[in-house]
Amino acid sequence: MIVYGTKAIHQKVDYIADSCPACNTPNVMQMNVFQRYAHIFWIPFFPVGKTGVSQCTHCKQVLKFNQMTPSLKMSYYNMKKQVNVPIWMFAGLALLAIGITAGVIADRNKSQKVSKMIFNLKKGDILDVKMKDNAFTLLKVTKVVGDSVFFVQNKFQIDQESGIDDLKSKEYDTEEEVVATADLKNMDKKEQILDVERD
Ligand SMILES: [Zn+2]
Repeated sequence: MIVYGTKAIHQKVDYIADSCPACNTPNVMQMNVFQRYAHIFWIPFFPVGKTGVSQCTHCKQVLKFNQMTPSLKMSYYNMKKQVNVPIWMFAGLALLAIGITAGVIADRNKSQKVSKMIFNLKKGDILDVKMKDNAFTLLKVTKVVGDSVFFVQNKFQIDQESGIDDLKSKEYDTEEEVVATADLKNMDKKEQILDVERD
């Protein structure tokens, strides 16, 4: 379950020049500015606008923005301009941006690592590969002779990259196959080699 919603903080209160629409007393009106923000799991995500509430300090009448007289609304607009959105209200968006950037960097580092390792494979290395039919499986290197890489293929395939580690505990074919380093390089270019794992 995702908990989300909006909250508001009280940002500013000031006396304004208007008289009270209820009791007509001059110089008794207070205007409040509230800033609303969206939160997900109580982490502020982004601001969603301001609202105002007026109160007469004499007769105590409270008016929400849509109940205010045009003159009170003008006072609210003028006051709202002086109130800045606090930067912490963007915390969620900032975290999201940091997460995406970190993900992009991690992906790039991984792909550089793969491109290096396919020229330097050793017995026991495990290649995470994407096959033509969008299935994923593991290839385990059994030996390397010159430019020929011998491997056995995992007996199982899955349709999602995220579960590929589960295949490590599964059996591999007993029959060895062989692939040239140049072909591995082509596979890497087509982004069919997702990772190379070495213990
Ligand atoms: Zn009043």
